[in-house]
Amino acid sequence: MSSSSLVWFRRDLRLHDNPAWVAATQRSQSLTALYVLDDTLLATAGKHRRNQLLAELVALDRHIEHVTGGRLHIRHGDSTAIVPKLAGSFDAVYWNSDVTPYATRRDRFVLDGVRAAGADVHTSWGTLHHPPGSVLTGKGTLSKVFTPFYKVWRRTGVAPWPATTDDHSVSVTADPGQHRELVSLITDEPPLPPGEEAALDRLDCWLGRVDQYNDARDFPATDGTSMLSADLRFGTVSPRRISALVGEASDGRQGFVRQLSWRDWWAHTLLGFPDLARRSVRPEYDGIAWNNDESEFASWCDGQTGYPIVDAGMRQLNETGWMHNRVRMIVGSFLVKDLLIDWRWGERYFRRMLIDADIAQNAGNWQWVAGTGPDAAPYFRIFNPISQSRKFDAGGGYLRRWVPELAALDDKTIHEPWIGAPLDLASAGIVLGDTYPAPIVDHAKARDRTLAAYKAVKNPKP
Ligand SMILES: Cc1cc2nc3c(=O)[nH]c(=O)nc-3n(C[C@H](O)[C@H](O)[C@H](O)COP(=O)(O)OP(=O)(O)OC[C@H]3O[C@@H](n4cnc5c(N)ncnc54)[C@H](O)[C@@H]3O)c2cc1C
Repeated sequence: MSSSSLVWFRRDLRLHDNPAWVAATQRSQSLTALYVLDDTLLATAGKHRRNQLLAELVALDRHIEHVTGGRLHIRHGDSTAIVPKLAGSFDAVYWNSDVTPYATRRDRFVLDGVRAAGADVHTSWGTLHHPPGSVLTGKGTLSKVFTPFYKVWRRTGVAPWPATTDDHSVSVTADPGQHRELVSLITDEPPLPPGEEAALDRLDCWLGRVDQYNDARDFPATDGTSMLSADLRFGTVSPRRISALVGEASDGRQGFVRQLSWRDWWAHTLLGFPDLARRSVRPEYDGIAWNNDESEFASWCDGQTGYPIVDAGMRQLNETGWMHNRVRMIVGSFLVKDLLIDWRWGERYFRRMLIDADIAQNAGNWQWVAGTGPDAAPYFRIFNPISQSRKFDAGGGYLRRWVPELAALDDKTIHEPWIGAPLDLASAGIVLGDTYPAPIVDHAKARDRTLAAYKAVKNPKP
């Protein structure tokens, strides 16, 4: 029993199934809830994620106040200085661990500092379904291939849930007066309604659609996926609560829960390979002679490549902070394999723009797309942006939503406007190269160039 505790919230902005919060409330007489707004992390976030995070904190503060009468204490600055300094006034500090290189380094410093200040440290895993080290091969290692990992993941028992109760006898300390500053930092409406309750509402809506997941998940014009990625990123809902509620009673449910295990796999992988965002897991691919053309990169970022499905995805990302998974794969493949631009450029751009940006998921998936990762699409698998667009957005609903200047084209031409007859383009109000860009590369030629660049490092000439 600790008489006074500090709970340091990070990527677990909820009270339910939050092991650090629950342990502290059970073991303490008085408790302070803390979040440190860290400038190093804030600097990497674009406006969508920044606004979402700030709004999540306001919502968490209200939730804590509603449940306990206390408030979330906000501090602005460097956690490695702030947490140990505060720790001197407490018997114990609680937090949920994280896998990123930045977080693991920071937490080591904080742990030493807190102990030096005379307080105990209690850490748990509250952000993943299964903690790192709990899903291993027969040899006791992390599988380098996803499917065997998934098979073990699926039969691994979930650690007992902390018995969450809203009936706290612990006294939670009150407002230190930082909340007005927090609200003043919010520049725009956050992309999603914030808070644990809103996340649970999204989960509840998703339960009505999840059975169709396998049939619907690849079609970006429909509501075929859960859109829970930002909730998982901020921790407004726990992955095991999601999987417990979804269950495996249909193929769609099984397929969906399997995706949650990808999230664990990349997180476990990052912990063992902290350079996931910096180095190719297959080192030979770090020798690729990338083209890295700045102006083509800018066209990709701005959604001005002349390939409608690529432009639609990038515009959805820029406008909302989220992009459909199928389209993430298409735009990623286009950047790496049509423009021959280093996957790390795309990873960095996504990391800034996505509300669900998460180093493990982002770098892992970029390495998958680039063919450089542990279990990746083979390098010679190059998505054709036109056939992908025709297959997954046949009616053009997604394209018309995000590239409205092409909306009047018919369902065939909209995927590749340059095939349109001049009169048809004119009557749709389109002048290629003026109202909409001409394609910045020729897909067939770009494909050959990429295959040659990959082959050169795969089978170097003696
Ligand atoms: C290039 C690229 C970059 C990506 N970057 C990120 C990222 O930064 N953060 C992120 O959370 N996801 C990332 N993804 C994975 C995936 O695109 C998103 O998780 C998904 O689109 C989120 O939408 P959803 O919640 O509706 O997904 P759903 O299809 O409803 O899936 C449910 C959950 O499963 C997990 N999941 C689904 N697919 C994947 C996957 N391929 N890898 C890991 N977890 C998955 C996510 O947590 C997701 O919220 C990336 C994919 C690609 C191809």
